[in-house]
Amino acid sequence: MARHIEPVCRLCRREGSKLFLKGSRCLSSKCAISKRETIPGQHGPNSKGKRAKPSDYAVQLREKQKVRRIYGVLETQFRRYFREATRSRGVTGAELLILLERRLDNVIYRAGFSPSRAGARQLVAHAHFNVNGHPMDVPSYLVKPGDKITVRESSRKLGYWTQLSSEKDSPSTPAWLMADRGNLVTEVRVLPKRDEIDVLVKEQLVVEYYSR
Ligand code: SF4
Repeated sequence: MARHIEPVCRLCRREGSKLFLKGSRCLSSKCAISKRETIPGQHGPNSKGKRAKPSDYAVQLREKQKVRRIYGVLETQFRRYFREATRSRGVTGAELLILLERRLDNVIYRAGFSPSRAGARQLVAHAHFNVNGHPMDVPSYLVKPGDKITVRESSRKLGYWTQLSSEKDSPSTPAWLMADRGNLVTEVRVLPKRDEIDVLVKEQLVVEYYSR
């Protein structure tokens, strides 16, 4: 499984906004973007202390990269999601985000079973889950309404899960999911709608980027 290997806080600094890639650290004073907002690398402001106005292309590219990085998806796979979104009947940008939300690693994160999508991806890849009673270790698996995701019996005795099951359910679990931490179960009620997806991105710019 391909993955990013550079420090993830650099990605937030590059996009100029919090992408919430590191769980609780993102909400603490240790967040790198709160300390240093400058873009990483050598290309800082010009001699007048200003940055050149970005082109339309640059704005679209940055928005696309932002979405891709929030969900931790590499370019080839992201293009595949975009192509699938264009084939659906809905609004392409919204359909793209809905597809990304349906990824199993995202669902595990949304259910509060992991503080970050990267952590959730690792939990899935390490085969901690069953989907509808069958082992599933593919983070990109797309959930559907009615899917029931449970922590596997063999994993339940591990410290991570005993600790999690003793905690309260996460108040931030979206309404399209039912998460029961005590029993280490989450269920997909319905597919999310765009207004239920709390990622601050302008998905229309992503559509414009790929429609050039
Ligand atoms: Fe981004 Fe989180 Fe790092 Fe802050 S702590 S820069 S939000 S990944």
